Amino acid sequence: MQLHTKIMIALVLGVLVGLGANLLELSWLVDFLVAIRQFGDAWIDLITMVVIPLVVASLIVGTASLGDITKVGRIGGKTMVYYLATTAIAVVIGLVLSNVLIRDSGMSEEALAGLRGTYLEQSQGQVAMAQEAPGLVEVLRGIIPRNPIAALANFEMLPILFFSVIFGAALSVLESAKRDPVLNFFEGVNGAATVMIHWIMKLAPYAVFALIGAVIAEFGADVLGSLLIYSLTVVLGLLIHASLTYGSALRFLAGLNPLAFLKRIRAVQLVAFSTSSSNATLPITIETAEEEIGISREVSSFVLPLGATINMDGTALYQAVATMFIAQVLVGDLTLATQFGIVLTATLASIGAAGVPSAGIIILIVVLQQALPASVDPAAGIALILGVDRILDMCRTTLNVTGDLTAAAVVARSEGETLILSSEPGAIEPAA
Ligand code: ASP
Repeated sequence: MQLHTKIMIALVLGVLVGLGANLLELSWLVDFLVAIRQFGDAWIDLITMVVIPLVVASLIVGTASLGDITKVGRIGGKTMVYYLATTAIAVVIGLVLSNVLIRDSGMSEEALAGLRGTYLEQSQGQVAMAQEAPGLVEVLRGIIPRNPIAALANFEMLPILFFSVIFGAALSVLESAKRDPVLNFFEGVNGAATVMIHWIMKLAPYAVFALIGAVIAEFGADVLGSLLIYSLTVVLGLLIHASLTYGSALRFLAGLNPLAFLKRIRAVQLVAFSTSSSNATLPITIETAEEEIGISREVSSFVLPLGATINMDGTALYQAVATMFIAQVLVGDLTLATQFGIVLTATLASIGAAGVPSAGIIILIVVLQQALPASVDPAAGIALILGVDRILDMCRTTLNVTGDLTAAAVVARSEGETLILSSEPGAIEPAA
């Protein structure tokens, strides 16, 4: 059986058992479920353990290959600007929707107080904690780590991201005798971290059962309802980004009919949906770009692999909504300055997320660490949403690959290529 099927089954089982224990007031079962939450918490510690090596190595390797981008010059610049801009738009859509739809946690005061009591290291004065979050100037000043090692040790993500990007960029201008050993080292770290995620994910079904079962047994159906609102907010955001942002980019920048485009990339979307991995989908993405859209190999072989690694609009949007939702449950409203910080961290964090299943929720820790007050353990937030994460992963990965293909079409058109479906005279005829 495939892992995601197992996770789905674990989710449904956890919900049913938890709900049963709660509704029938079976105290022994509630106690049991609460006791096995330890396993779920341990699992979260495991994924947290991989965050720093993964983010640092993948960002350094990613930015170091931007050295080639400077060589490729024009195409590289356009691609990066497009990727960063669309990702930031995705985060803003996620934040706006969350402000409108996730006004409160959707839970009763009693359930909330219980959850906060369980999850907060210090549960008193939640409102004060939200206000304790730094203002905009501090957020910006705080990006520069005076001591990168201290930033690593203290899990200060924004400074770590900042340092890794600059370090990677600096690496790329070194002569290859000096650059390659360092790059190889970080490529190895990146690879090993990815293997670790793969191993840890094998335990995910048990963790999902333990975490969701305990939460629902203790707090009842309230939690379920609010998880539904959270999930729908993410999905709605993904749809809005696809239709508005990609729709306009395709129509106005690439001169293509968005619906016809979508129809042609359906296979890519289905593979992304079922594998939850932009990387695994990459070969099909490249083939589709060339065969179905008529994008040149020159553009597709550059824009698409880069996109699968760093362009994750779906992941960034989801991280914004998840952070807002978790904040509502654990601390209440977030200030505008903190939300601005989310735009920065979620954009950078999505670049740091590998195109593999569940990368997004691991890197979410980065965003939570930045947005929530220091007294809140980000793992608590992960525990809340882990149960529904797989299905959201499938949806956000679908948007991620759609974004990569849209970018390839936009860049190809801006390079004067004539694409299949192009409305201009001389367009290549669609393949039969
Ligand atoms: N699974 C996503 C991808 O490969 C990353 C994520 O977890 O959001 O694009």
